[in-house]
Amino acid sequence: MIKITNLSKAFSGNQVLDHLDLEINEGDVVALIGASGAGKSTFLRSLNNLENPDSGQIEIDDLKIDFAHLTKKEVLALRRKTGMVFQQFNLFERRTALENVMEGLIQVKKLPKEKARLIAEQELEKVGLTDRKDYYPKFLSGGQKQRVGIARALAMEPKLLLLDEPTSALDPELVGEVQEVILQAAKNQQTMVLVSHEMDFVYNVATKVLFLEKGKIIEAGTPQEVFYAPQNPRTRAFLARHI
Ligand code: ATP
Ligand code: MG
Repeated sequence: MIKITNLSKAFSGNQVLDHLDLEINEGDVVALIGASGAGKSTFLRSLNNLENPDSGQIEIDDLKIDFAHLTKKEVLALRRKTGMVFQQFNLFERRTALENVMEGLIQVKKLPKEKARLIAEQELEKVGLTDRKDYYPKFLSGGQKQRVGIARALAMEPKLLLLDEPTSALDPELVGEVQEVILQAAKNQQTMVLVSHEMDFVYNVATKVLFLEKGKIIEAGTPQEVFYAPQNPRTRAFLARHI
């Protein structure tokens, strides 16, 4: 189980995350919804310390971290347990699809090159990109790039996969292929936290939906509960605008 306690972050007086608590079970797909500026990206980025929270703890298996007192070693340990998929893919442009997936396996997991290559090939096959493995990112479509991004994250076998609007930079006709890959990962019991504005997709993939407003979780439940019987009037107002 993953346990997040008392997570807070302010940017020059602006309280962006306000004492958040969250428990995530193995295989959970937690979807984070909320208006622009609610703190969704900051929350995700905090979970692997791309943003350093002012306070809070996270427990992932045997790893217990206090964000207020982090050592470099703990940051590395946390990053080994969390994988990130970015809206803008963030691939290495000078490396092929295969090399992008191999990179973390070699640099972070310290695997020998041949072993890394085998794993990377398997991960690219899972996302349907075997025939594109030697392509550089600039010769891939947005959907293909994002599938490389997901393969790269999954290759590291993260305990927790973080996805920040993984399809919102894509042309509409490419959204489905990326959603399909995420659905497959969910079926394989990959634990994840997903930020998305695609409410249909959230409804289909999530086991738990959180509505975030001004850095606080003001509504939480199953997709059925949150979409069909929201308790908070502000959740209702948000959903009325987004469904
Ligand atoms: P969106 O749906 O637009 O992506 P979001 O919910 O992801 O929004 P965040 O990006 O987490 O929102 O931002 C929350 C608030 O924190 C915003 O007011 C934003 O301006 C502020 N913020 C985020 N990052 C920084 C930063 N590095 N420095 C200062 N303020 C920041
Ligand atoms: Mg965001």
